[in-house]
Amino acid sequence: MTPFDLVEPPSLGEALKLLEPDDSAVRPLAGGTALMLLMKSGFFRPKRLVSLRAAGERLARIRIEPNGELRIGAMVRLAALEWAPEVRRDFPVIGHTLRTLANVRVRNVATLGGHLAHADPHSDLPPVLIALGACLVLAGPRGERAVPVEGFATGHYETVCKGDELIVEATIPPLGRRRAAYAKCTTRSADDWPALGIAVAWDDDGAIRSPRIVLGAATERPTRLKAAEALIAGRTLDGALLTRAGEAAAEEADVVADARGSVSYKKQLVKVYVARALRAAGAGPAAP
Ligand SMILES: Cc1cc2nc3c(=O)[nH]c(=O)nc-3n(C[C@H](O)[C@H](O)[C@H](O)COP(=O)(O)OP(=O)(O)OC[C@H]3O[C@@H](n4cnc5c(N)ncnc54)[C@H](O)[C@@H]3O)c2cc1C
Repeated sequence: MTPFDLVEPPSLGEALKLLEPDDSAVRPLAGGTALMLLMKSGFFRPKRLVSLRAAGERLARIRIEPNGELRIGAMVRLAALEWAPEVRRDFPVIGHTLRTLANVRVRNVATLGGHLAHADPHSDLPPVLIALGACLVLAGPRGERAVPVEGFATGHYETVCKGDELIVEATIPPLGRRRAAYAKCTTRSADDWPALGIAVAWDDDGAIRSPRIVLGAATERPTRLKAAEALIAGRTLDGALLTRAGEAAAEEADVVADARGSVSYKKQLVKVYVARALRAAGAGPAAP
């Protein structure tokens, strides 16, 4: 391995100063689970890694605001998020999703910020965060800006986060009476990357309001299935609606083939898993 500098600035401001937007060999370091693999394979040869481990309390905490909004620092490890009592209580869909994400060794090290910034299209959490209407706070030399998770990834491993910016935290609005669920399919071992993941959420007043149906892993980037959303809006769930929603989703989904399945196989998965995710959300309790 080529020698490189590893720096651990004591604040977010110091970390930002150490980034070099015009030099892709200077990168922030979070859990390192993705970066180390890239380095071991020789794909990425860093000049400087800027560890965010000591970059401040804001990046390390999980907090519920008085209005019920959940704030998660970028350096919060996925396992800490999985086990946080307030997350389990108020946002159970996040804990359920994390329990099937990779394995406990990865979750003990990987962080929320690294997970999102890496922007692997197969990632499990982005569809869930999009369904919940989450935003990211990005900090850079020009200050901070909020970006909806829905618009954060622009393609394979590409995001709107600039080279001189860092993800600071994610904010998730209170669940209220929103129902939510995530259903995924792995085609190899149970802890493998998903071939497909579907997150759904809607406001429940007896009928389905403001639904979101988000497809991940089978597309270039997490994608809302808006025709299927429109089909279920204002309706109540029954077997016929589940079937039609699955069909509409499969019809509109722009899926891509990869090592985990062909286009036709993934279309069939979309049909089945949209219905499963909707049924799971409908069967669970709506938040009080
Ligand atoms: C064996 C294995 C299996 C996995 N399986 C799954 C799976 O099934 N499902 C799934 O969803 N995920 C899976 N993952 C991915 C994992 O969840 C993490 O998302 C990922 O490895 C990166 O997290 P990290 O904190 O280690 O990031 P790092 O490796 O530290 O960083 C990743 C990228 O993000 C950048 N970055 C880090 N923090 C920030 C920040 N705050 N602001 C801006 N840029 C930042 C880094 O510069 C780098 O480019 C797997 C990973 C491994 C190693």
